[in-house]
Amino acid sequence: MDIEELYSRFTECNGLTTDSRHCPEGSMFLALKGETFNGNAFAAQSLAQGCRYAVVDEPQYASPENPRILLVENCLQTLQQLANYHRRKLGTRMVGVTGTNGKTTTKELIAAVLKEKFNVLYTQGNFNNHIGVPLTLLRLKPEHEVAVIEMGANHPGEIKTLVHIAEPDCGIITNVGKAHLEGFGSFEGVIRTKGELYDYLREKGNATIFIQNENPHLNKIAEGLNCVRYGQTSGLDVSGAVLSCSPFLHFEWAAGGALHEVKTHLIGAYNLDNALAAVAIGRYFGVEDTKICHALSSYVPQNNRSQLVQTESNTLIVDAYNANPTSMMAALLNFRQMEAEHKVAILGAMKELGEGSREEHQKVVDFLNECQFERVILVGPEFAGLSASFEHYENVKEVEAMLAAHPVQHCCVLIKGSNSMKLSELPACL
Ligand code: ATP
Ligand code: MG
Repeated sequence: MDIEELYSRFTECNGLTTDSRHCPEGSMFLALKGETFNGNAFAAQSLAQGCRYAVVDEPQYASPENPRILLVENCLQTLQQLANYHRRKLGTRMVGVTGTNGKTTTKELIAAVLKEKFNVLYTQGNFNNHIGVPLTLLRLKPEHEVAVIEMGANHPGEIKTLVHIAEPDCGIITNVGKAHLEGFGSFEGVIRTKGELYDYLREKGNATIFIQNENPHLNKIAEGLNCVRYGQTSGLDVSGAVLSCSPFLHFEWAAGGALHEVKTHLIGAYNLDNALAAVAIGRYFGVEDTKICHALSSYVPQNNRSQLVQTESNTLIVDAYNANPTSMMAALLNFRQMEAEHKVAILGAMKELGEGSREEHQKVVDFLNECQFERVILVGPEFAGLSASFEHYENVKEVEAMLAAHPVQHCCVLIKGSNSMKLSELPACL
């Protein structure tokens, strides 16, 4: 079945689902395959559960007697083509968001600001890959005025694929840092991949990017694009500075001759850039300054990243969802400048760093040596043998046992590490 015909069926439906456990009445089911599942096998069940059509790519699951099962060559490609077709049909203004760190936070802040003036569709949670981006686009409705689409990558070429599906009109690379080096090969590989967003916008012509003014890597690849600049230098399109961050970010920003102050619910001074990006994009779309301030001060993160948790005994900053050298350093810098009497850093290993892994962990240890935290607890084999002065444990279970025997009390504790280190289990022991 060709894409035009499939699209006409899609327009009869109430959205699209790829999850056979979630089949809204009248929706279209599309069968994806994973390592351990084959969606084709759930096509019939999806129809029984209320889907209007089921799209499959294995002929044995289609049958001539059932016109509600639609056979295509490759469901994943079909999903992406359908999303692009839909996006083109609706012609919604679209902001693409990529970068190493801060994509989700920046996307959420941009959406919060744009919602002050527009009906906005934006990526839910972290749905930022070759499946999440098309699924997001397929949620577009004619009444949406702007879409904010997060795009993630851990291999070269991934952003290129995503921008050709979403076709953004403008975009932002939040930053480039050392993450997923196994997949990208090198830091240059990271820059090139994120830069695929700029490449696309440059080809499209007359497109605008929002750029962190002080980032040399981004400036190097931004040539030929209309740049709206934000950062800490004065006189930019949007200039800002941290006023305090203990622990919530309180900042000021200046643009067009006016100066504003915002008290956020965001933890981490690194969120200044994320917030300034949202200001720059809000102003570009004509949102009034006071409304931008209102949106940023009202936004409360709900995504389990950099959360402040007050337990009976301690104040915790829990950032256990991901860690790479850039975000680790940002978290440590922020923790160092926080006002607290007794600081304890519990740091899990940073995964997926490939060959440079040991060196990057050593850099973290070197930085910790300068920080003078009361206690440093390192977790994971990557940290083994790197420091004689800090405590080291192989895994989170060992840390839990230690905490049970020697409770930490009346401290401010930073918990940061890659998701697979499972440090998110520690707040229960603190
Ligand atoms: P993912 O790759 O998981 O989608 P992301 O790019 O969407 O991540 P966020 O979820 O917004 O990023 O933030 C994750 C963590 O990255 C934060 O908790 C913080 O430690 C760090 N971080 C956020 N913004 C920045 C920034 N501007 N610079 C450096 N680190 C940041
Ligand atoms: Mg994200």
